Amino acid sequence: MIVFKTCQQLLNYLEKAKAAGRKTGFVPTMGALHAGHTSLIRLSKAQADITICSIFVNPTQFNDPRDYEKYPVTIEKDILLLETEGTDILFLPSVQEMYPSGLQNGEHYNLGHLENILEGTYRPGHFQGVCRIMDRLLSIVQPHLLFLGQKDYQQCMVIKKLAQLKNFSTQIVIAPTLREKSGLAMSSRNMRLSDEAKEKATAIYEALKYIKENIGLMPVATLEQQAKNKIMQAGFEKVDYITICHANNLQPVEEWQPHAEMVAVCAAFIDGVRLIDNLLLQ
Ligand code: AMP
Repeated sequence: MIVFKTCQQLLNYLEKAKAAGRKTGFVPTMGALHAGHTSLIRLSKAQADITICSIFVNPTQFNDPRDYEKYPVTIEKDILLLETEGTDILFLPSVQEMYPSGLQNGEHYNLGHLENILEGTYRPGHFQGVCRIMDRLLSIVQPHLLFLGQKDYQQCMVIKKLAQLKNFSTQIVIAPTLREKSGLAMSSRNMRLSDEAKEKATAIYEALKYIKENIGLMPVATLEQQAKNKIMQAGFEKVDYITICHANNLQPVEEWQPHAEMVAVCAAFIDGVRLIDNLLLQ
């Protein structure tokens, strides 16, 4: 695996590779890698000639500075894991490299309603930060294929919107959420949970499954309230939201419609750690 730390080095390498007709697959991450990330690497390896992974904990997407400071960093383990998976290139830039003009006053991205719902409501500015880093990364890597996890459902929609706004020709592939045997969605943030909290945290997946099993059997608001109660009863401190939305635009579903494609999305705190998850209801 080749490790590049500067944009210029990466650009030079990729320019030659692309000129030689090689298809590129890109997996952007914030590190603290787990099997969810490696599932994306494997997908990329199956579909592209060169797989590029980036590790960059992006400061502009953290609305809470303490969350940024506490974000797990396990770079040596990550490098080993990426090598084991046969990753071709690791891009490991510094903050200065990604934000040469500083963190303030970035471009504003017109994300429409996506910006102010769900994650956008609870993490103001978060998706602007996601767009700033993805805009920069995609402009440098210009991959044929971009691999994202469904685990971050709204983020996938935001990045698709960014690709539209910026006319990126990259094809976006959304991969299913990898879970622990317990059902808990894999996440770098799980590293901050005690074993006991990890066990309790399975309540999110249980609640999402409860919604899936009972959709159409009671009013949507009742089902959402019952799902929320399940999470709180399991020992969560706070549920930001557990909501049934239309899968294509994340607008709330007021009343069940038998043929609509829906997704249940959730964000909740346990042990001071904010976890998100979602489940398609079809
Ligand atoms: P992150 O490092 O959390 O920014 O995630 C990097 C990429 O991995 C994003 O596209 C995530 O959606 C994806 N990802 C994170 N967790 C999982 C998971 N459990 N299963 C599949 N993909 C995931």
